[in-house]
Amino acid sequence: MRDYYDVVVVGGGIVGVFATLDLALRGASVLLLERRRICSGTSGRSHGMLHSGARYATTDPKAAEECIKENRILTEIAPHCIRDVGGFFVSVSPEEEEYHHQLVSSCKRAGIPSTDVDVDLLRTLEPNITPKARSAILVPDKVVYARDLAYSALLVALSKGASVVEGASVERIRVEGGQVTGVEAFSSSGFFKLRCRGVVNAAGPWCGEVAKKAGLSVEVIPAAGVMGVASASLTRHIINRMRPPSDGDIIVPYAAGATIAGTTAKLTEDLERIEVGEEDAEIILQECGEVVPALREVGFSRLYASVRPLIAKNGGETDLREMTRSFEIIDHSEEGVEGFVTAVGGKLTTGRLIAENAVNTIARHLGIPTGSFTDKTRLNHPSKEEAKDIRAALEAGEVVGQLRTMIDESLETIDGERYWSLLLPLVFAKRIGERG
Ligand SMILES: Cc1cc2nc3c(=O)[nH]c(=O)nc-3n(C[C@H](O)[C@H](O)[C@H](O)COP(=O)(O)OP(=O)(O)OC[C@H]3O[C@@H](n4cnc5c(N)ncnc54)[C@H](O)[C@@H]3O)c2cc1C
Repeated sequence: MRDYYDVVVVGGGIVGVFATLDLALRGASVLLLERRRICSGTSGRSHGMLHSGARYATTDPKAAEECIKENRILTEIAPHCIRDVGGFFVSVSPEEEEYHHQLVSSCKRAGIPSTDVDVDLLRTLEPNITPKARSAILVPDKVVYARDLAYSALLVALSKGASVVEGASVERIRVEGGQVTGVEAFSSSGFFKLRCRGVVNAAGPWCGEVAKKAGLSVEVIPAAGVMGVASASLTRHIINRMRPPSDGDIIVPYAAGATIAGTTAKLTEDLERIEVGEEDAEIILQECGEVVPALREVGFSRLYASVRPLIAKNGGETDLREMTRSFEIIDHSEEGVEGFVTAVGGKLTTGRLIAENAVNTIARHLGIPTGSFTDKTRLNHPSKEEAKDIRAALEAGEVVGQLRTMIDESLETIDGERYWSLLLPLVFAKRIGERG
């Protein structure tokens, strides 16, 4: 590892990964430090949905507009990580049917296309929908595979000179004379120090803890959510309840034989140990089962949970469902620490946009280019040159951790096909290399 980088990114979730790619594309030297594995935090434990924004259209229009914009961008740059299944909002009561019109007009205002769908057609398309269904609209909700997206972005980042270390926990951010000068971290090979001019704090729900390591304070509201996996294919489309965001309102056909239903939202004290109770499963089965009764018959084969990093505003907001799903970039130079930026809040869907805003903020301090760099960088069509550069980065030790093993092994197995169409040219490059 080198002893100097322009910027160190802390946290290898979707925000940290896109920040790393973005900085590398701007020509900065960048190191990503992730204390566990890429996507081991919230990003690898989401509901798997690339939101159209319709869910937030009536209550959180800013988040809704961000979602539809990013939904389009990610579909364009990373089609291999997204399944365009479409999403229905379905009403099953007179109150929900009343919400239908409000939802349609809010979607229109946010620029989200929505189409009214006749209930008979809905039942033909989705035979497991309840006979109680009263009305439906179709919106561009999609399934997203977060790890594939993160790995694909990192491979391109590697080809542009980025370095990635998994299993490295940042313990201190050094600040001298009001300027970030370096980081100190622990990894399995021990304690190490680096010099740098900037740090992007992309630690999701842990970003308050990381800010403390620079002597700063960031308040995040940690809202835990539980999801249940049913081992069956129950729907073809994503099914949302036709109502404002609430517990147990989304069913995602994540993969063949795997349906994910959720979520719940409650404050958690301990980010490392989220309580997953039977009552969570019951709420989800009850609420989602109102739209797809077969879910109750199948039940859940497992439950999992993660924590939303929500923005703390005015200290007084307590209804977790009403808090914004938009994001905030905190420039800590305003508190006297130049070169330190924290990204808080947002969605998996908007991770690229959050990273772009965080990087633009730090770029202004470091004198590197500002603008939009990741919105047109395709993550599934590398050039031969990029493929060669990734191989060279691996050989130069720019990747430390299981990610390195995965990339290496994928070159030789079918996993390369599943994860990254990007790996294909690498296989050829290697075979040609072997033949001399
Ligand atoms: C239940 C639930 C369901 C969701 N479903 C969806 C969905 O379907 N669609 C959607 O768009 N959004 C969804 N979200 C929101 C979305 O998942 C998150 O907003 C997003 O993944 C956050 O990404 P992140 O990169 O900010 O944080 P994370 O993914 O949590 O990444 C932060 C990383 O920082 C690392 N880290 C922490 N401390 C340190 C340190 N000291 N040193 C080094 N590394 C450190 C952590 O290990 C972690 O990997 C959901 C959220 C929840 C809670």
